[in-house]
Amino acid sequence: MSTPSDIVIIGGGLAAAKTAEALRENGHTGTITIVAAENHLPYERPPISKEYLAGTKTLDDATVHPAEWYRAHDVTLRTGVTATAIDPSAHTVALDDGTSLPYNRLVLATGSTVRRLPGVSADNVLYLRTVEDADAIAAAFGEGRRLVVVGGGWIGLEVAAAARNAGTEVTVLERADVPLGRILGNRVAQVFADLHRAHGVDLRTGVEVDEIVIEGGRATGVRLAGGETIDADAVVVGIGVTPMTELVQSAGLAVDDGVLVDQTLRTSDPDIWAVGDIANHDHPVLGRRIRVEHWATALNQPAAAAASLLGTDTPFTNLPYFFSDQYDLGCEYVGHAAGHEENVVVRGDLGAREFVAFWLDDARHVVAAMNVNVWDVVDAIRPVITERRVVDPARLADPDVPYDEL
Ligand SMILES: Cc1cc2nc3c(=O)[nH]c(=O)nc-3n(C[C@H](O)[C@H](O)[C@H](O)COP(=O)(O)OP(=O)(O)OC[C@H]3O[C@@H](n4cnc5c(N)ncnc54)[C@H](O)[C@@H]3O)c2cc1C
Repeated sequence: MSTPSDIVIIGGGLAAAKTAEALRENGHTGTITIVAAENHLPYERPPISKEYLAGTKTLDDATVHPAEWYRAHDVTLRTGVTATAIDPSAHTVALDDGTSLPYNRLVLATGSTVRRLPGVSADNVLYLRTVEDADAIAAAFGEGRRLVVVGGGWIGLEVAAAARNAGTEVTVLERADVPLGRILGNRVAQVFADLHRAHGVDLRTGVEVDEIVIEGGRATGVRLAGGETIDADAVVVGIGVTPMTELVQSAGLAVDDGVLVDQTLRTSDPDIWAVGDIANHDHPVLGRRIRVEHWATALNQPAAAAASLLGTDTPFTNLPYFFSDQYDLGCEYVGHAAGHEENVVVRGDLGAREFVAFWLDDARHVVAAMNVNVWDVVDAIRPVITERRVVDPARLADPDVPYDEL
């Protein structure tokens, strides 16, 4: 493979910034241009549903690199510019300012976009993806204000926690019997339900939203399928995200729930790579395809992609990893339970919210684990998963058995 001179990165989040960094670290001396739709330096999103929403961190705290870094590393960052088309045969990217950029190699890091409620438009029906979204949501917080959160996923629950901490009256509406049940299984997910109720959230589970009630262009409440209406001063909708694939679909790349990439993060076009939320990756350790919408993937995939793109094939092998903070609960999750959510072994105390949960497959391999208010265990747990050790559930539950003796 020839050494590329011009590399274009489309995106402007964590994965884009880390790709530029990894390319320079791997010795790329040609041009690097980042085309970034948002009008900001690339920033990390986890704080915007946590410390930024709580007002304890600024956008500066969340930026991946200061402006100076891009100058010092000769990376051209074009913010507020959207890529509108890719021509793989001409090796060009068309931009919404009417210009186009040539490339030898292209990296896609376009991330995700929030799923919206169809046909609902009101300026106090809010979603959370960008820092501007967080500003609008934070403005709806306060004593005596009523916030309804549609969707009890990670984002919905983190918004609920930040809103409660600011004195807001919060109702969370979740279709499933337990929020996060689909990811954690009902037993562990119940910990999060109890946590929110203990903090005064009116958590309604097993409910179906019938309609957002809008009067004079503003939402005044949410009507449930049974007919009850919950009054609201603002509504936050957190019903998931979808990968931003329109651009790449038009370029003719193979797409199926994200852009299909091989183990080294290369797409079906030999000159185009994809990283972060958008990449549907052929994971060499898990032995199947997985698309991960987590901070750690956007942080770490770029190193493998950059090395591969520059000629050293480097499979990305990290297990999926994410974290969340809600009130005084902090947790980390590693692995992928994938169908084994209810087969859980707990080490510690669920009621005290201080435990490690392990998910086992039918052959008693640990496939995922989550530590809740227990720290510095992830590095010890990872090999238990990757080495596919067959474990004894009683020893797994015993806090006196070290992880390396499982
Ligand atoms: C509020 C919030 C909280 C989160 N909290 C956590 C957490 O606690 N733990 C965790 O593990 N993960 C968390 N995540 C998920 C994590 O932030 C994402 O997985 C990560 O941001 C993905 O990074 P990315 O660079 O792939 O995509 P993104 O961060 O989505 O960035 C993509 C960028 O590309 C731009 N773009 C898209 N199309 C174009 C185009 N055509 N031209 C130019 N630019 C374009 C977008 O505007 C965007 O700025 C959170 C996400 C959100 C939204």
